[in-house]
Amino acid sequence: MRSGGCLCGAIRYECAGEAQFSLQCHCRDCQRGSGAPHVAAVRMAADSFRITQGAPRRYVAKSDAGNDITRAFCADCGTPLYVQVSTRPDIVGLRVCTFDDPSWFRPEANIFVKSAQPWDHLDPDIPAFAVYPTGKAY
Ligand SMILES: [Zn+2]
Ligand SMILES: [Zn+2]
Repeated sequence: MRSGGCLCGAIRYECAGEAQFSLQCHCRDCQRGSGAPHVAAVRMAADSFRITQGAPRRYVAKSDAGNDITRAFCADCGTPLYVQVSTRPDIVGLRVCTFDDPSWFRPEANIFVKSAQPWDHLDPDIPAFAVYPTGKAY
């Protein structure tokens, strides 16, 4: 069981199990929504994830493919916590650095490198994809 939460502590969560996909996303939405050149995220089973304290606020926007993407964040401190895609309610995409201990993260892929910033350093040993790797597009 891993725990995490936002900067101010109003929102806390727990998550069990292993990541289904560990990624660093360089899309412009992640860049803008985080203020950073990429976002480290893990896709976890939604039924292994639960909010244990507080209630995140949600912002819904369309993906490039036209699906609703819900971004959950703390309304008090603004910390982005997780993302859910309408086509995959069984999966939650957690922002790795909101875990109390994010050190276990091992990225499998850099995605959306078509919009990676030229000043960001990408590890050449991690597979890079212009958009998504096959079968991970959600
Ligand atoms: Zn907060
Ligand atoms: Zn992204």
